[in-house]
Formats: sequence, C-alpha cells, structure tokens
Amino acid sequence: MMYAKVIVDVAASQTNKAFDYLIPEDLQGLIQPGMRVTVPFGPRKIQGFVWKVTENTELARVKPIAEMLDPYPVLTQELLQLGEWLALETVCFLITAYQSMIPSAIRAKPKKMLQLKVDEKNLPPDLQTIFSGEKSIDWADAVKNETALPLLKKAVQNEDIEVEYLLKDQTKKKMVRTIRMCPNTHEKDFQEILGNRAKKQVQFMNWFAANLPNAPVAIPTVIEQAGVSINVIQSLIKKGLLLEEEIEEYRDPYDDQQFDQPTRPNLTDQQRHVLNPINTSVTKSSYEPFLLRGVTGSGKTEVYLRSIETVLEKGEEAIVLVPEISLTPQMVERFKERFGSQVAVLHSALSSGEKYDEWRKVHRKEVKVAVGARSAVFAPFENLGIIIIDEEHEGSYKQEDHPRYHARQVALWRGEYHRCPVILGSATPSLESFARASRHVFTLLELPDRVNKVAMPEVDVIDMRDELKKGNRSAFSELLLEKIQDRLEKKEQIVLFLNRRGYSTFVICRNCGFTASCPHCEITLTYHHSGRNLKCHYCGYNEPMMNTCPECESEHIRFFGTGTQKVQEEITNLLPEARVIRMDVDTTSRKGSHAKLLQSFRNGEADILLGTQMIAKGLDFPKITLVGVLAADTMLHLPDFRAPERTFQLLTQVSGRAGRDKLLGEVVVQTYTPDHYSIQHAKTHDFKAFSLEEMGQRKRGGYPPYYYITLVTIAHEDITKVIKTADKIASYLKQTLSPETKILGPTVSPIARIKDRYRYQCMIKYKNEPELINILNDIHFRYQKEMVNEQLSISIDMNPQMFM
Ligand code: ADP
Ligand code: ZN
Ligand code: ZN
Repeated sequence: MMYAKVIVDVAASQTNKAFDYLIPEDLQGLIQPGMRVTVPFGPRKIQGFVWKVTENTELARVKPIAEMLDPYPVLTQELLQLGEWLALETVCFLITAYQSMIPSAIRAKPKKMLQLKVDEKNLPPDLQTIFSGEKSIDWADAVKNETALPLLKKAVQNEDIEVEYLLKDQTKKKMVRTIRMCPNTHEKDFQEILGNRAKKQVQFMNWFAANLPNAPVAIPTVIEQAGVSINVIQSLIKKGLLLEEEIEEYRDPYDDQQFDQPTRPNLTDQQRHVLNPINTSVTKSSYEPFLLRGVTGSGKTEVYLRSIETVLEKGEEAIVLVPEISLTPQMVERFKERFGSQVAVLHSALSSGEKYDEWRKVHRKEVKVAVGARSAVFAPFENLGIIIIDEEHEGSYKQEDHPRYHARQVALWRGEYHRCPVILGSATPSLESFARASRHVFTLLELPDRVNKVAMPEVDVIDMRDELKKGNRSAFSELLLEKIQDRLEKKEQIVLFLNRRGYSTFVICRNCGFTASCPHCEITLTYHHSGRNLKCHYCGYNEPMMNTCPECESEHIRFFGTGTQKVQEEITNLLPEARVIRMDVDTTSRKGSHAKLLQSFRNGEADILLGTQMIAKGLDFPKITLVGVLAADTMLHLPDFRAPERTFQLLTQVSGRAGRDKLLGEVVVQTYTPDHYSIQHAKTHDFKAFSLEEMGQRKRGGYPPYYYITLVTIAHEDITKVIKTADKIASYLKQTLSPETKILGPTVSPIARIKDRYRYQCMIKYKNEPELINILNDIHFRYQKEMVNEQLSISIDMNPQMFM
C-alpha cells in the first residue's frame, strides 16, 4: 500500500500536521510530493498539498485521496522544505506558506485537459473511444470510465497524452498558427519541385528557406515580412513543403518591445573589484551573502548583470528581486537586453494569466533568469546560482500578511540550500544588514563613486518656517520656485516629490477643531478631489465631503495639507507655461499607465514630473537636473522608529535622480526641521555618518539591530475579549521569557480599530531568546479554536516593518 501525507487546506486545523491518506491504486506512481490533491476531510472534500509519499501509516484506517489536482508537482522538494521552515519562523500555518509560493491563477481549482500528442490510432482502443476524434478532452469526463485511468496513466507516461491546466477564460492560453519548413525540404530546389508555373510559391520558399529556416513562425508575421498572400502559404502547406502547427503563445507583456543588441560597457575598476569575490563564490558553489553598497549611479545593476552571466555560463539559474515600484519597463529592459528570452518577469501588475505564464516558464525550465518583486524569491528553479536583491532596504520586501516573511530571509535560506551567493544591493542599506556586514556576517562590497565620476548633486535645505515668516504660504519656497523657472527656461527637466497621495490629506474645522475620521477604523479620512469625497485608506469607507461642520455647523471646514493634485494646481497657477505629469496611485492605477507616463516624460513631453514614492527610484533620465522634495517632514514624524532611516533613504534616492548624466544636478529639500540628522546627512550624501548616528539612537531606544522586535496584535469585535486575551498572552510571555527581554503592553494599537474590530498589541524586545519561536507557535496553536470559531485574530509579526 502507498500512502500520502497531505497538508490540508484548513488554515487553522492542527497547525503543521500532515494527514495520512491512501493512494488509490489507479493513482499509484502518479502522486508525487508537491502535487495538490483533494481529500475527504470530515464531511467535506478539501484541497491539500502532498507532502510525502510513504509505504506505511500508523493509523488503522485511512481514507483514500479523492482526486489528483496537479499533473506535475507545483512545489519542488526544496520549496516543500522551505515552507516548513517559513511556517515555523513566521508563525503561520504550513498550508499558508505553501499557498504563497504558487501563482494565484492555479490556486483556484483549474480544469484539467488531456491533450492528444500522437495520432489517435496509436492509442489503445478504449482510449480511442474516449477521444473519438477530439484532440483535447476534459479529464473529468475521461476518468468517468473506470477502466480508462490505468490506460491514461500509461499514455501520460509514454507522453502520448499530456495533461494541461485549463484556467478560467481570462487566463486561457493563447494559441497561434505557425508554419515552418518540413524537415526534409531544406536544401531542395523548389523550382524543380513546384514547377515553372508556381512562381510566387518558389520565390516565397526561397525567401523562407533563407530567412526563417528553423523555428516555427506565426503566419501573420510571415505574411507581413514576406508580403505574401495566405493562399500561397496554404497551397504550400497542402503540397507538404510547409508544416502548419498550432503552438502556444505566451502572453509576454513585453512582447511588442524591440530589444537592442546588448552593449556591454567596460567595467570600471571599482566594478571589477566587487565582481571578483562574487564570481569566485559562483564558480566555487559556495554560499556567501554579500552586501553591495554603491551610491546611486555607481553601476550596481551592471555588476548584477555580469554576475548572472557567470551563473548562466555555469548552466545555473538566477533570481533578481526588485521592489515592486522599481520594476519599471526600463529596469526589465536592461535584463531582457542582455539575456533575451531567458528572462521571465514576475510582476504583480501582470494579469493573473500573464503571471501564470511567466511562472510556468520558470517551472518548465524554459528560462534561466527570473526578475520580479518579493514573491519571485519563490521561483521554482532547481539549480540556483545566484540570488540578487536590489534596494535591499526596501520595506516592500516584507510581506505584511501571512506568511509574514522577508524576502531577504528567504533568499538567504535558498542561497544556503543551493550553495550560491546572495547579493544584497543598495545605496542606503538597512541598518540591520549594514550591522551584519560590520560584524562580517555579510561580506561588504563597496562602489563609492558614480560611474564616469559624475559628482553627487548639490543639496539645498530650506527652512519652511522662514518662508512662513516671510508670508509665503505656498507649497514652494522662493528658492525652489526660482530654480524651477530657471530649468524651464533652459528646457531641462524637474522632478518634484511629495510623500502623500490624494488631493489633500485631512479635513478640519477651523472653528471648533473637528476632524473627519472613519467610523470603523478611527483614522483620519482622506479628501479625494476627483469624487469630492472623504475616504478611509484602511477599509475603503467613504462619504461625501461636507459643506458645514457636523459639530458646530460652521462653514469654515476645509481640507488641510498638500497632495499631489493640489500641488499640480498650484504649479499651474504659478507657472502656467510648465507642462506637468502627475504620478500617484490615482493616475497610475490602470495597467500600463505607469509606464506610459514615464515614457512621455522621457520623450520630453513634460517639464515637471510630480509624484509620490513611486517616482523616487528607478528613473534614469539624463535631462533631470533639479529634484525638489516638497515636505521632507511628512515621513520624518511618523510614529515608527524607522522614520529617520526611511527619510534618509528616501532623500538619498530622490537625490539620485538628479544629474545622472553629463548635466550637474541639484536638489532642494523643504522642511520644518532642517537640523535633523537624517536631513543633514542626506544633504552631504554621507551614509556612514548617518548610520553611525542612527545606530546610537537605536541603541538608546533598544531597537534593531541591537534588539529584535516581535509584535503580537490581538483583534476582535468585542473589546473586553481583546483586552483579556492580550493580558493573558502578555503575562504568559513574561513568565516564560528571560528577564532581560522587555515586553511592552498590552496597549491599544496605533490604529485602534479596523473594520469594527478592536486591536491591542504587545511588543517583545529581546536580544537572545532561542525559545521564543516555539513559545509563539505554541500560543498560536492554543488559540486556534477561538481563531476559527470566534474570529479572534492573533497575528504575530517577527521583525515588523510597519507599526501602524
Ligand atoms: P545603480 O544601479 O548603482 O544606480 P546603474 O547600474 O543604473 O547604477 O548605472 C548607472 C548608469 O551607468 C547606467 O546608465 C549604466 O548603464 C551606466 N554604467 C554602468 N556601468 C558602466 C560602465 N562600466 N561603463 C559605462 N557606463 C556604465
Ligand atoms: Zn466645527
Ligand atoms: Zn475605515
């Protein structure tokens, strides 16, 4: 008898336990670890991942697997193992960890089709009846006939039949009709075969043999290139000179772009210097984490490209992680230029079908390089030779939902597993990584200068309090406005950065102080100009903008703060001649709009690019010579210990946009706290000085990298239940953890209520607490029933990146 240990899809049941199921005879030999199956579970049938296949079970009675869902394993052995580790480390259910590793398109139950790959006559009679003339039939129909399964199994093993997923309409595979030369027609004299009368056909065949001798080519493409009619092609197919095939066309989102021939610049000395140890690590197959700190424009990407070349020469594969917002067409282009069709791009802006296609290219080993955002770290390669994380300090590498993993943590695990280097690159590394490099846990590599030695831009810090004293109430200081005018005259480009979104931020009554807030979340509502309404950014609640104050009926109620839309209006008033492109969540929500806006800025269709975070990185436009940061304080004063670090990173990033090419760049930073060390060190581009000062700050506050932090958040509709549970957990932690560990709270969370659920939190600060993971998993396990039955939520965030 064969049994399968299955991790079932009940995110709560018996945490990380696998259940035993009998593998029915007809599925024996087919079921493999990493496949999904449906199994009976109580009265229901549910999905699960096959975790192991064994020959014995300790149970007296086991139920059989109901259905095999995957024709091939969707998770490799490595990923199965990684999931176990991840579930433990991030305190989540094993099933949740596994689900997060596969594309969402196949998380739903897809329909399976049997594709006939040979002539039907070659099948056993019983299967012939099932197909009866069709090329492709539904698996579910086929297996209704009981005798069919063993025959199908054999046919699949012989590759006479292929099992394929059929996804819902929007993710359906695109098929294209193609032609190619019949294998035996090469080198033939077409004139002789076709005779004198078929001039066009002869001409076309000669052209085809000369230009497209190998791969199948889409018929429309051929028609376009050869200027030939479909009739000519059809007669040639009939005469057996061309072979017609229907093949799958991947929905390549970058399809319509032409990639230039690669131009590899000669490496600078600094680049060569940092590349050496990386290449050594690749060739020796040794696990080594590198921290590559290189100022903006120092050529880090070129270093990535070169190290990937070494990896590919060795026949291995590469993963490159890029923050979601930097995953611009421009970024992707650089990899496609160099590695062409060997690159898959895993981007969350792709449709679920496109994502599935890209994932499948990796899964089928059709590509060697995966470039993508956070979840691309799970790309199912089996011969990894390098993992690169660009902008490693980016907060978006941490997933804020289960499993709460950090891509860096997963990359290091996989690097160790595959014995390959992991490169963490940044101009402003996270203090955690930098501290590890200082302790030689990571090897520090540095690119201190920009390629071509272009100077770092000059940074002016403007005290906005002085502007106010001068009576200037606009969003622009005098100096910034002057410089903008100057650039407009010189026809150079300007980037204006505002760390806000929407038209403006919040609504306040100047008479009584009333502010509008969400009735469910207790956070301030944001005013949206386009719909003239107020919106909650946590739960989506919205209401129309009021004309009078609901408290005192005063008419002096209005929005406050500055948003991109309002700044745009102000620019239009002050500088009517300026052409402005605004980029924020509102103008870029539609697919492709992000790229379009950037492209038109690049083409010089606008003078000013105005936007939020999303314009801070990745842009590399030669004509930008001025960057303005309109309000540096918005980020500096968030209730988060990383606020100064984020401000420094952000200012450095936006400064990096200026003067990338020959023209010298300038940066103007407007702030109400000009003396803050984040701003001062950003002004002088001094990461080391900043990190030194910030490290002192962290030490005094007991924050990472000196202490680890874990955040436990308890939420429920009933506030007494929340408080009671939080108290219980806190006192249990105090009893079990070492006396050096600090437990803060329980206290009400910075956002006290989300979607009518009250939130309390407990912060654990510790230096060395080897048992903590087990204790937390234990707590998670013990509250399982209440979490499932009473909607109590206990979320545990190891090393949280967000404190809101
Ligand atoms: P970073 O990623 O460190 O910000 P990039 O890799 O984007 O820097 O490099 C900045 C610019 O310099 C790019 O336009 C890139 O093509 C160019 N570049 C990189 N390396 C070289 C080199 N060795 N010689 C000439 N140009 C280079
Ligand atoms: Zn009022
Ligand atoms: Zn809300």
